[in-house]
Amino acid sequence: MKPVVALVGRPNVGKSTLFNRLIRDRQALVDDMPGVTRDRHYGEARWDDKAFTVIDTGGFLTEDDDYFAAQIRDQLAVAVAQASALVLILDGRAGLSPFDHDLAAMLRKSGKPVFYVVNKIENQRQLDDLGDFYDLGIESFYPVSAEHGIGVADLLDDLVAGLPDAVESDMEDNETVRIAIVGRPNVGKSSLANQLFGSPRVVVNEKAGTTRDAIELEVCHKGRRFVLVDTAGIRRKGKVTEKLEKFSILKSLKSLENCHVALILIDAAEGITDQDITIAGYAEKKGCGAVFLLNKWDRVDKQEKGEKAYISELRQMAKFLSYAPVMTVSALTGQRCHRILDMAANVYEEYGFRINTGTLNRIIADAVQREEPSLHKGRRLKFFYATQVATRPPCFVCFVNYPKAVHFSYERYLVNQLRQMIPLNLTPIRLYFREKT
Ligand code: GDP
Ligand code: GDP
Repeated sequence: MKPVVALVGRPNVGKSTLFNRLIRDRQALVDDMPGVTRDRHYGEARWDDKAFTVIDTGGFLTEDDDYFAAQIRDQLAVAVAQASALVLILDGRAGLSPFDHDLAAMLRKSGKPVFYVVNKIENQRQLDDLGDFYDLGIESFYPVSAEHGIGVADLLDDLVAGLPDAVESDMEDNETVRIAIVGRPNVGKSSLANQLFGSPRVVVNEKAGTTRDAIELEVCHKGRRFVLVDTAGIRRKGKVTEKLEKFSILKSLKSLENCHVALILIDAAEGITDQDITIAGYAEKKGCGAVFLLNKWDRVDKQEKGEKAYISELRQMAKFLSYAPVMTVSALTGQRCHRILDMAANVYEEYGFRINTGTLNRIIADAVQREEPSLHKGRRLKFFYATQVATRPPCFVCFVNYPKAVHFSYERYLVNQLRQMIPLNLTPIRLYFREKT
C-alpha cells in the first residue's frame, strides 16, 4: 500500500490542475484508453523514487453542495483520515476566503502534516503580494503555478521527504473480499460501516468508470483485505432521498452487483419485515455470498423472544437463503461485530471454492447410485460426467443424456449432496445439466 496525499481546497483554486501535473505520465496512459473516464480523482504519482497515491478531493464537491455540512462529514473526512500528508491549495489571485480558514482549521485538527500551497503565482509581482496568506496562522507556504509547473518541484521535494515508504504487506497477496452492506433505511448500515471500516487504517479507492460518489473503504482484518462496496450509499446521508425506501433498495441492488459477500442487515428490535426478505432475495438472485445480521440486538427483549426464535422465523421467511449464516449483533455497542468479518471470510472461502474433477465425479456417481433418478417417459437418465465451470459462486455442470429429464426434486437432491459431501454450507452453488453431444 502506498502512502496517500490528499489535495484539499475550495473549488477553482487549481486542485485538478495540480493533480494532473502530479500524475501526468499515468494519466496520459489512462486517457488514451477508450471508455476510461477522464474524470479521475485518484492517481499514482512518483517523485524521487517515492511512489504515492494522490486524491483530488475536489472530485467530491460541487459548488452547489452545502459545502461543509455535506463534505466534511463524509468523503473529505475519509480522505483526510487516511492520508499521510495533506496539501491545502489556496488561490494566489483570488486571495483568502473564509472557507480557506475553515479548511485550514480542519486539516490542522487531523494532526497530519499540512503543506500550504498558494497557486497561480507566475511572476515576481504576484509573489510579493502574498503577505495576507500568513493570516492563516502558518509559518510558510509554497508559491506555485500548477499550470506552468513553477515551484512544484520544491513542494514535491519536501512532501515526499516526510512520506512513509510503500508497504508491501502480506495482505497484498491475498485476494480482496468485497463486502456490501444492504438493508432497509435505519437498520444500522452506516453504524455498521463505521464499526467495521471506521478505523483510521482505512484506505480509499476508486474504481475507474464509477461516479465520483463511489468511494470505497478498505480495511485489513487478520491478514485479509476487505473492501466496502458503494460506501456512498451508506455514508452519505441524503436529505430527501434517505426517506425514500425505493431509492435505498436501488442502492442495495447496485452494491450487490460487484460484491462477494452481502451483509444483509435487519432491525431485530423492529422485527423481520417483508422488505428485509425482498432485499435478501436480491442477494440470492445476484448469486453473492450472504450473511444475515440481526442488528440492534442490544434492544431486543430476549426473555420475550430469544435468538433461536428469531433465527427460525428468518429461516422460515427466507428459505431461499438457507446457506446464509445468521448472526445477532449490535452495530451500536459493537457486540459480536468483530466476528462479522471472520464470518465473511469463511463465506468468501467457500464462495471461491474449486473442486477437482475426479472428486466431483465421485460425489455425483455416489449420489446417483444411492438414489437413482426416476424414469422419464420410460427412459433412464444417464450421467456421463460433471465438471466445475466457474467459481464465485461455485458452478457445476453435469453432462447427461437428456437434461430435460432431470426433475426439480432430483436436482435439489444433487445440490444437497454436493453441499454435504464437498462440503459447501455457506455459499450459493449452481448446478446445470447439459446434453452430452
Ligand atoms: P479545482 O476546482 O480546484 O480543481 O481547480 P482547477 O484545477 O479546475 O482550476 C481552476 C481554474 O484555475 C482553471 O481555469 C485553471 O486553468 C486555473 N488555474 C489552475 N492552476 C493555475 C495556475 O497555476 N495559474 C493560473 N493562471 N491559472 C490556474
Ligand atoms: P442506516 O440508515 O441503515 O444507515 O442506519 P443508521 O446506521 O443510520 O442507524 C439508524 C439508527 O439506528 C441510528 O439512530 C443508530 O444509532 C441506530 N442503531 C444502529 N445500530 C444500532 C444497534 O445495534 N442498536 C441500537 N440500539 N441502535 C442502533
